[in-house]
Amino acid sequence: MGESILLIEDEQELCTILTKRLNKQGYVVETAADGVIGYKKAVGSPFDLIILDITLPQRNGFDVCRDLRQAGLATPILVLTARTQIADKVVSLKLGADDYVTKPFSAAELMARIEALLRRPPLQTSQTLHEFGGLRVDLRRMEVKLNGELVRLSAREFQLLRYLIERPGVAVSRTELLRSVWGYGEDSFTRTVDVHIASLRRKIENDPVSPKMIVTIPGMGYRFDGK
Ligand code: CA
Repeated sequence: MGESILLIEDEQELCTILTKRLNKQGYVVETAADGVIGYKKAVGSPFDLIILDITLPQRNGFDVCRDLRQAGLATPILVLTARTQIADKVVSLKLGADDYVTKPFSAAELMARIEALLRRPPLQTSQTLHEFGGLRVDLRRMEVKLNGELVRLSAREFQLLRYLIERPGVAVSRTELLRSVWGYGEDSFTRTVDVHIASLRRKIENDPVSPKMIVTIPGMGYRFDGK
């Protein structure tokens, strides 16, 4: 049996087209036409992926996404945003979405994103408390402590740390971080990432000069090596 996808989208026509296309690719599709039903279905039975529209009746996609993550659901979420709402992408990634596609999108683009999300190693989002030596990160409370002392991170630093922690031992490129943590396109200034990493290291590494947790991959990006 194919992988299952929950499609939360209120535009009937788009819903029908996408369902047909996804079925053709071998996916089993369940649909929901508003945020309330979508949330219920998402927590009610296991799906391999959730496609979530932002503008929905009853409850918008942002709220649904945030509540699903707060409920501990680790299923990948692909958000559908309107072309003009750049802020939507950033907000949805902050609320725990894994990727986004901007409307109008081609079926091929959507399929590629779905494939990528389904093929990548499972996230550890169900685990909310992480401890690495003296560093303690509570994702649910958004609280970080180093050797028992509260560490004050900016929202962006926290998102960055979270992204790396959830992919332990995996080399993550600057481009991926810009896209996933900032919601920026490929042509953005990758130095932004380095500046935030440096600031993060000063706050969470016992010795920021020779970091043991956030390791640099020369010419590529970073890897979280905390144990
Ligand atoms: Ca809509």
